[in-house]
Amino acid sequence: MAAYNIGICKSWADVVTIIIFSLFGIGSGGHNNTGLKFLISTNQINQQTYGQTQVYFPAFANTRPLHAILKHPAMSKVKIKLAFLGHLPHRIDTTKILSWKSDLFEIIPPIDRYTITEDSDLNNWQYSDDNIEQHLPVQFDGDILIAVTRVPIEENYYARRYPGNRACLSYHEMTEILNSDNIPLENLILRILYVASFVFRRYGNRIPLMHEDTNFSHDETRECIFDMNGIKTDVIYSLNRPHLCSACVETLTSCRIEKNLIEKVQKELKGIKKGLYYEITDFIKRYPVWTLVISSIAAIAIGLITSFLYDLIK
Ligand SMILES: [Zn+2]
Repeated sequence: MAAYNIGICKSWADVVTIIIFSLFGIGSGGHNNTGLKFLISTNQINQQTYGQTQVYFPAFANTRPLHAILKHPAMSKVKIKLAFLGHLPHRIDTTKILSWKSDLFEIIPPIDRYTITEDSDLNNWQYSDDNIEQHLPVQFDGDILIAVTRVPIEENYYARRYPGNRACLSYHEMTEILNSDNIPLENLILRILYVASFVFRRYGNRIPLMHEDTNFSHDETRECIFDMNGIKTDVIYSLNRPHLCSACVETLTSCRIEKNLIEKVQKELKGIKKGLYYEITDFIKRYPVWTLVISSIAAIAIGLITSFLYDLIK
């Protein structure tokens, strides 16, 4: 159940606001971010009822002002169910994915597995939306179902959306692209989880369908998680310490996504990165002269320290 901490009414204006909302039936049992369901606090002392709305006044709650919460209620985490569709021979570290911590979403374990029972039904061995959809459950645990597969999907996209808040991510061609730049395969899934969660919140707790006119992605590659990546190879730029570009931050903020949450996500996205070894090799490739200078200084320093220690103990 989503809950919104109300805190102490600080003024008569807050009380009037509650009564107005109560009269219009707002807050009488909704449980998502658009409906307001007020928190039943563990330290509640006073309970009053206004119409059908139950409002609790925690005595010492550390909360935001009521009018601010009514305007921008705190969001609960988006619950995501992950599933593997068909055989995935790639080395995907499921532990890394399941243990990922985010203030935006949570993954509901375990990762389900579904078998592909049909052959491809489009050119170039692609699976149509209908074909993929029939392999996925309609009912699932969570707000969004994201199926991960390796078969090519319609129009050779790497991700497609289906009715019922379901989506499919395909590693077809993506494995090779990621491997070519030493990017862990899990990074693609993590990025999609952030995108799907933001889209879910932005569109009123639903994933828009493919034919809907949406604008959450931008064609230009900005190392942002909302890069369209129409040219698939560009995906590498948003899978190593990606971010939310300023335009996307502005859009999300205007869609009533909390600034605080966006800032937290910006920090979390820095954790989507290459391993240390490949970060070092990238540094060497990018700054060969600096690497030479640093390694020369290090070699001289080691030599000096060694001779100093030798003089000390002889
Ligand atoms: Zn962006």
